[in-house]
Amino acid sequence: MQADNARRTSTTPAHLVEAGLVPPEQAAALEEVVQRYALSVTPAMRDLIDPADPADPIARQFLPSPAELNSLPEELADPIGDGARSPIKGIVHRYPDRVLLMPTVACAVYCRFCFRREVVGGPGGLTVDELDAALGYIRDTPAVWEVILTGGDPLVLSPRRLADIVGALSAMSHVQVIRIHSRVPVVAPERVTDDLLTALATDKALWLSVHANHPREFTAEARAALARLAHAGIALIGQSVLLKGVNDTPDTLEALMRAFVATRVRPYYLHHPDLAPGTGHFRPAITEGQELVAHLRGRVSGLAQPTYVLDIPGGHGKSPIGPVYLDGDTVADWRGTRHDLRHDR
Ligand code: SF4
Repeated sequence: MQADNARRTSTTPAHLVEAGLVPPEQAAALEEVVQRYALSVTPAMRDLIDPADPADPIARQFLPSPAELNSLPEELADPIGDGARSPIKGIVHRYPDRVLLMPTVACAVYCRFCFRREVVGGPGGLTVDELDAALGYIRDTPAVWEVILTGGDPLVLSPRRLADIVGALSAMSHVQVIRIHSRVPVVAPERVTDDLLTALATDKALWLSVHANHPREFTAEARAALARLAHAGIALIGQSVLLKGVNDTPDTLEALMRAFVATRVRPYYLHHPDLAPGTGHFRPAITEGQELVAHLRGRVSGLAQPTYVLDIPGGHGKSPIGPVYLDGDTVADWRGTRHDLRHDR
């Protein structure tokens, strides 16, 4: 039975029991979690989990836990305020020059810490008419310079649907940049096919923001998928979430950033976890995050430095929260020196 299903995505606690990742006696408790928050573990991620390690960082990201049912008072169903900034279904317009376009709420995997966990895996994807209306909003808003396709994971859409969206955006003269946020190249690298690459072909600048949180996610298959994307001329940037028990040690974070750069993915954002319901067990203190980022600064090149950011609840957007490297006196001293040097020129 398990051999027949070995390449099937696990979407129920019973599948996880069958794969040897969850003891049978835990299945009933996990059913309750999965009723609330969707479950999906791709074969690529399932293969990476060490069932003998109770602290496995891959398992922690994708296997449900009863801790998810413990919501804290400060946690919010919509922690970054998407709803407050949505002028039309499928669009979030938070900054003047860019919009989020969310054609699907499906993902290849459902991360247990996801900030949109109340939405992903549900029925909120756009119908054909709703997608047309969302594209119409962008077409009618000349200030939009960059469109960020997110969701959900846009790369789970069929190449035909993706090609339609990329084609429609490419035809809008004011849209100069198309950015796609995806976990697919890492968690389901087999989806990076020639058809997908053809669907992403455009004369506009297309940036793919690849989400990965642990160096082990960079399997040979994932590295090959990223190489295919790079060879297709797609600019690759990386985003990660700082997660307790996954990547909150200096060595792991450093190895993660090196893995990004070695696969031609420039680290972009390191997100402090948002206040999503039932995710308190993933959130380190911001001071811990700042120490980790300071450590990174001392160990790896500038290419491997992400910006550590916090999304301010209520739709206010991202704020950099990285450590301060120079105190006011040091900067004042430097300014004085600089001033003198200018006079010397
Ligand atoms: S892939 Fe992204 S949107 Fe989907 S569950 Fe993970 S973090 Fe959330």
